[in-house]
Parts: sequence; C-alpha cells; structure tokens
Amino acid sequence: MSNTGKQANPGQDATTKVLEPFREIIDRFGLLLKRQAEESAALAPVDLGGLVIGEEAFLGGEPLVSFVDAEVFAPVFKQSASGVWPVLGVIFPALAEGLATLTAKADKDRTWVSLCLRAVVHGDAEALEQAAAKAAVSPDFLLMSLRVAYGPCIASVRPALTALAPVELWRRAHCPVCGADPDIALLENHPEPSEFLVSKGGELWHHCPVCTHRWRFMRLVCAGCGNQDHETLTRLALPDSPREYIYACESCKQYLPCLDLVERFDAVDFDLAALNSVHLDAAAQSRGYTPISPAPWTAMGFAETQAKAS
Ligand SMILES: [Zn+2]
Ligand SMILES: [Zn+2]
Repeated sequence: MSNTGKQANPGQDATTKVLEPFREIIDRFGLLLKRQAEESAALAPVDLGGLVIGEEAFLGGEPLVSFVDAEVFAPVFKQSASGVWPVLGVIFPALAEGLATLTAKADKDRTWVSLCLRAVVHGDAEALEQAAAKAAVSPDFLLMSLRVAYGPCIASVRPALTALAPVELWRRAHCPVCGADPDIALLENHPEPSEFLVSKGGELWHHCPVCTHRWRFMRLVCAGCGNQDHETLTRLALPDSPREYIYACESCKQYLPCLDLVERFDAVDFDLAALNSVHLDAAAQSRGYTPISPAPWTAMGFAETQAKAS
C-alpha cells in the first residue's frame, strides 16, 4: 500500500481491500449502471397528461406509478431496451441469446410489450407469466431484463411524479415512486434549522435500485416484514469495516446492507452504493439471509459464489 499521507477517509483502504474479490462484478455492473444513467438522461419526455395522484391512497402506501397508465412508457421503454439490453448481453454473454429473443419480440409484437409494461410498471404477476410464456423465457429472466430497461424510464419521470404528491411524508419501506424494495440503507446527517434536536445517530434513508429515488425510513424496523422486536433484529458489522452494516431480521431472514455516512464527508454516489457493498451481500448470504431487494448481481448468485470461493 502506498504511503499517501493524510487520508480523507481512513476506512477507504480497508474497504478497497475487502472489495478486491468482487472487482470484476463491480466493474461489469458498474458499466450497466452507467449506461442506464446515460439512457435515462437521453430519453424523450414521457407525457403524463393531466395525471392526478389520489393523496389518501398514496399516503396509504400506493406508489406514485400505480396512478400512471403503464402504456405511457411504451415509446421510452423500447428506446431504453435497445440501449441497455445489448450492454447486459455483453456483461453476461450467457444472456445474449435470450435478450436477442426479447428484442425481436418487442420489435414486432405490440401487445406483448403491453403485457411486459403491466408486469414491470404495476407488478402484474399474471402479465409476467403470460409474457414469459409467449417469449419462451423464464419469468425471472424476463423480469430482470424488463427492470434493467424500465429503470431509466421511471428515473426520467421521477421529478415530474414526485412534484404531484407530498413524498416527504412517506415513511414506508418500499419506494414511493415505483414501489420497488430498497437495495441499501444509509445513515445520514440532515441538520435542518427547524429541527432543534438533531438525532445524533443520523437519519435512515432508503435508496431505490430501480428509479434511484431516496426516502426516509424508520430506524429499528425490518424493511422486509415490518418486525420491530429488537430481540430479533440483528446488526452485523464486518471486521475492518466498522461503518458498514448488515441489518438482518431473524423473523423473515431477510437483510438490507447499510452504510453509516454520519462521519463521512467525501462524496458518495448513492446509485453505486449497493454495488460497492457486494461484500456485505456475500457475508449476509453466507449466514443464510436473503436480500430484501435481489439486485442482479445477488440474484444471479454472484455474491454467494464469491463468498464460497474466498
Ligand atoms: Zn423507485
Ligand atoms: Zn423481517
């Protein structure tokens, strides 16, 4: 290790070292996330018409996208898929053939695209089954591929949607915009002049892996099942990484990685935070926990494979 004198973040070297076995996954998926962000910025605007959000239903837990007709995403979805699916196929050559099937299907079968949009936008399980059967692919593979293409679409309309409802009041585990489960929790300082007492341990914020939205959540509650019994909520820290945790729940056996940023002052890319915490996934999965949000790299068993190999 080179002697670089003073370090902005003393934990950085240790983190770099623990990530070493996962470098290839991080590099590959980093390419995909970068491509998705570029695609999102380049998409044509989505016409939401005179969309009205039912505030009571929203505050009752219905995400903003549930008020949107899935069809409005059709043009941008096709544009996004043609930009990100080829990259996904390069990252996973084994998926290239399946992705080519989906691309061909999307090009010539408009009703199939509608089914896919209902599946990915509104979580319609029946539509997913039907669309998978029509394309002769597995529902899991189809959903993962759809999410990769849909992410840039919903991310691009996120500002328009959040302007229509009091999103700052949302305190649920899932994303207020697209309804996805969080991929990482972050402990942050949000000092506000109006808040006389600032919580010393920081506020807990969730990050959405699909639309990249961030929202506040309650501490000491399982984001997977709502369990609040502190006896069955576990916080695991890894050696050498005292500011990185795994929040695990003994009731539902699910986990969420967490980064404590309260004493960190360097810039953190929230959209890369979960990917850069893949070592936490490996540690949690080797202890028998399953992720609340199966990221592509954990869903494909990469973290597990690496954990066994190392
Ligand atoms: Zn979201
Ligand atoms: Zn739980």
